[in-house]
Amino acid sequence: MEDVFNWQINRNMKYPYSAAMPEKQFAAVFDINKCIGCQTCSITCKTTWTAGRGQEYMFWNNVESKPYGGYPLYWDSKLLEKIGGGKWNNNTYAGKTIFEKAAEENKSVEGFLPALEDWSYPNMGEDEIYGGSVTQGMHIESLPHPIWFFYLPRICNHCSYPACVAACPRKSVYKRPEDGIVLIDQSRCQGYRQCVAGCPYKKPMYNATTNRSEKCVACYPKTEAGLHTQCMEHCIGKVRIQGWISPPDKADPNNPIDYLVHVKKIAHPLYPQFGTQPNIYYIPPIHVPSPYLTQMFGTGVDAAIKAYKAAPSDTTLKGLLVLFGSCAELMTKFEVKNDIAIGYNSKGDIVAQAPIQEPHVIRDHYDKARDVYRLDVT
Ligand code: SF4
Ligand code: SF4
Repeated sequence: MEDVFNWQINRNMKYPYSAAMPEKQFAAVFDINKCIGCQTCSITCKTTWTAGRGQEYMFWNNVESKPYGGYPLYWDSKLLEKIGGGKWNNNTYAGKTIFEKAAEENKSVEGFLPALEDWSYPNMGEDEIYGGSVTQGMHIESLPHPIWFFYLPRICNHCSYPACVAACPRKSVYKRPEDGIVLIDQSRCQGYRQCVAGCPYKKPMYNATTNRSEKCVACYPKTEAGLHTQCMEHCIGKVRIQGWISPPDKADPNNPIDYLVHVKKIAHPLYPQFGTQPNIYYIPPIHVPSPYLTQMFGTGVDAAIKAYKAAPSDTTLKGLLVLFGSCAELMTKFEVKNDIAIGYNSKGDIVAQAPIQEPHVIRDHYDKARDVYRLDVT
């Protein structure tokens, strides 16, 4: 085991290989507050990549309903039990990562292989509220809500310390040095499913027809061409923004991902305590109690929600939030000028422009000239 630094848990940790950071790192931010669970992302991914034989149950992109849902079932709660939940000492993780827990038993990764049945019903019957029941005439007037659930969209995190890489005995899984995308070499894979067992997010999936494991490829042909992946581009709720993340000490405030993760700190990784340094970040839902969110996204969720709620008076943040899902091309820089949010690609060309405040006109309820009443006045 090597000693590596994981900035998300603010300490060094053990990992089977030495740190090898790519030239640039694929990353994305998902704003959970806007996800409507429409599954367009799941289907656009499925029709692009997993419509073949042996892939019937595969959803490289899935959307589950928390707190009860999971694809596969119990993927997170089972592992949290194994590593002991998650204890934080201020911003430093005080518990064991999946690599440190495994080392106690001379293994490389702590994990488990889900049962076939656990993959069988993605997002079926999951939309159950937590915290009581809805009664007739009930009004919810405070945050966080006394009752809640939310949608959690998930893809492979293209982790900086991937557990799938650590777990594979044939070294079939690799992280590309040019963009940090994690892939499974189909010609080397022998279908041992160690990556399926080892990935804490359960994102590699086994294809029984080819006897190979497969996973999200970050739509690498599109990403290489400077385009958003299928799931990012087609998101109905404009939940997602994709780009490149810098290490915290090299954060560029003009880079949308760096701004959200490192500068404003409103987007946080999913279960950082697992220790893989995942590169998909989430703006936490504002209506959910803090202890649940802290377990899921680490410390910092309260500050993130406070900053998110203050966005209406923060022109830069508000502008960037408006640019989510606004174009097919990757936006590597952004700025807000004269109340217009502008996104640029890596060549410096403008790829998106939007007013941070939409013009708002309220018409008279009664139109005297036409002698009609309007039902809709905005
Ligand atoms: S999410 Fe899982 S499959 Fe994806 S890179 Fe991380 S450990 Fe590997
Ligand atoms: S397409 Fe967007 S809004 Fe719809 S489920 Fe996926 S992430 Fe949520």
